[in-house]
Amino acid sequence: MSDSSTKLYEGVCDRFEQTASYVNLDAKVHAILSQPKAELMIHFPVKMDDGSYQLFKGYRIQHNNLLGPYKGGMRFSPEVSLDEVKGLAMLMTLKCALAKLPLGGAKGGIKYNPDDHSPEENQRITRRFTLALGHNIGPSYDIPAPDMGTNAQYMDWIMDTYHNLYGRKVEDKAVVTGKSVACGGSVGRASATGFGAVYCLEEWARESGQPLVGAKFAIQGFGNVGSHAALKLEELGATLVAVNDHTATLIHPEGISAKALAEYVQQHRGIKGFQPDHEVDDIRQFWSQDVEFLVLAAMENVVTKNNADLIRAKLIVEGANGPVTTKAEAILLDKGIQIIPDILANMGGVIVSYFEWVQNRNSEYWSAVTVDTKLREKLIAAYHSVVEIAGKQNVSMRQAAYVEALQHLEEVYLKRGVWP
Ligand code: NAD
Repeated sequence: MSDSSTKLYEGVCDRFEQTASYVNLDAKVHAILSQPKAELMIHFPVKMDDGSYQLFKGYRIQHNNLLGPYKGGMRFSPEVSLDEVKGLAMLMTLKCALAKLPLGGAKGGIKYNPDDHSPEENQRITRRFTLALGHNIGPSYDIPAPDMGTNAQYMDWIMDTYHNLYGRKVEDKAVVTGKSVACGGSVGRASATGFGAVYCLEEWARESGQPLVGAKFAIQGFGNVGSHAALKLEELGATLVAVNDHTATLIHPEGISAKALAEYVQQHRGIKGFQPDHEVDDIRQFWSQDVEFLVLAAMENVVTKNNADLIRAKLIVEGANGPVTTKAEAILLDKGIQIIPDILANMGGVIVSYFEWVQNRNSEYWSAVTVDTKLREKLIAAYHSVVEIAGKQNVSMRQAAYVEALQHLEEVYLKRGVWP
């Protein structure tokens, strides 16, 4: 188990415990939410292109389904571990509660690197994993979505496997979200998380009197979330001056074209080589950029007590899950740097996943304008409820987001009761 995933799990649990005692959470609700409802760990063999067999380890953690079916991404990465998915599944429960969606929280994945395999092997791994999951997923029970290392193609394979194995029913499409539009995905799903993070940022900027035109921003991670956030910020007139991903760090005070970089990354799977003259070796230069906004869109625990002091941004937007450790957060808040927390900043993905699920169940296709308008409406409502709590109770936006989510779950538990 990697140190990073342990830290993520501990960080989520610490924040949950802090808020539970702050709101004096009902004892039975506290006990129920402190553990996932189910932890599934499976090993399955897959035939490789050379005829040999390799054994893979997959996970699905179902944290809570009080508000609706379990919902959460599938992460394919060598770093995936039980603790990592447990932490991420709890975050999904809180995120769906904060967004007021009729969905619960889950997360899963396979511990392997898809980049080390051919498309044919990746397809067989995904289909065999779906078979091994069996009825632990389903359109009314547990609905996966893309996450790190997976995309619409992987969701199409999961949906097709499930449909052929069990259903052959119209609603089978809703077994996963984040599918390609051709296979029943929603328009606007791929951009939803990155755009959603920027919609929160826009509200913050408006309320803080910070103009977006001419503002500078740095971004870590230029995959699905990072590239869409950068494209939207560029459209709003802000300038990208620094990017870091797993291949390189690029710094250019005159500005980097997010559009050109996104096209480059599509082909080269990383930012390395886009502007070699502006690549730097020392990542500390990235963290210490004099920018208005820092968008974290790569992975967990990247801002720690070791680099928090370097950061000079006015606002951090957590597109990724758990990118700032609890110790780093204390340092940043002390310096007056505000943080739009993950469960708020990156909820756009699960909101449009919910829209996709609704469309699939009703055999509907919504327009891009409808999806974007509804996304904005939900996000802005959540943003303002968090800001209001933070202001009234003099707590951070993260604490306020946890308060809102936990109190919603508590209210529903107390009204429904625990049966039998
Ligand atoms: P992705 O695989 O498309 O992109 C990941 C990015 O992170 C890539 O640019 C990669 O180069 C970078 N990265 C990986 N390891 C790194 C490292 N060690 N240092 C620097 N950069 C590194 O993944 P994504 O879907 O964009 O997800 C990014 C984050 O956002 C994850 O934390 C994920 O859980 C979260 N998230 C994603 C969605 C979604 O809809 N895709 C929704 C909510 C949250």
